[in-house]
Amino acid sequence: MAENRMEDLIGMLKNQRMLATLVLGAFLAVPAFAQAPTSPAASDTSLRAGAQMINDLVTGNHILYGQGVLDGFGHLSARSDKDPNIFLMSRSVAPGLVKASDIMEYDLDGKPVDRRDRGIFSERFIHSAIYKTYPEVKAIVHSHSSAVIPYSVTKTPLRAIFHMSAFLGLGAPVFEIRKFGGDDTNMLVNNQDFGLALAKTLGNSAVVLMRGHGATVVGDSIKQAVFRAVYTQVNAQVESDALKLGEVNFLNAKEAATFVEYQKNQKQVIERPWELWKQTVKNAN
Ligand SMILES: [Zn+2]
Repeated sequence: MAENRMEDLIGMLKNQRMLATLVLGAFLAVPAFAQAPTSPAASDTSLRAGAQMINDLVTGNHILYGQGVLDGFGHLSARSDKDPNIFLMSRSVAPGLVKASDIMEYDLDGKPVDRRDRGIFSERFIHSAIYKTYPEVKAIVHSHSSAVIPYSVTKTPLRAIFHMSAFLGLGAPVFEIRKFGGDDTNMLVNNQDFGLALAKTLGNSAVVLMRGHGATVVGDSIKQAVFRAVYTQVNAQVESDALKLGEVNFLNAKEAATFVEYQKNQKQVIERPWELWKQTVKNAN
């Protein structure tokens, strides 16, 4: 009998705890539902892009800085998911410091949609011209990676040396600005004509090197462009190391193409490092 009473007592206490949990849960649910999302609210509400895209753009900037692909210079952009004739990029600010409120809209001729008094990148035409030329491109990284630059000024091609950078194939093309602007340029792609010439040199490749300047990497998403920008730099470092040791056995065209095809169906190949890199950066939304 004593045992039964004890069981009844335990049962009653359990029910009371469940009731308390329900009451507390209902109480807590109100403010949780009423709470506005913090990050997107910080961005310009007139932007024609989803909140997730703006978040990814900010995170991507921080990842590229954290991975040493961008320093105080360089930029990441994305084609709007609401209007394909608009792309999004920060105002002129170091990538590691980009906040959601820094994100601006540009048209495909490189004109800011609503500039106000904000500073803008002189090389925005890299982005505008590539988006204009290739509708399938959804995100672009422009960097001055010091590991990559040697391959823009020598005859040694930057080509896929391991599977993670298979997208480089047999070698990234090199944009020679002198061919289009003569000796008078300051090396910057600072007008739409230079941007269109760069886009033409890029062709079907994922990466175009820019002689004595840096590289531009494209992708079908922010995550893919960031992934490719990081692994372009890693490839350059590994290739430079390997070349010092002797003759290099690179991926051949078939191997590179097969891995690129495999990766298309393996979303986690892009997602896994993104989630890891994301943990290493401070989200400054
Ligand atoms: Zn540049």
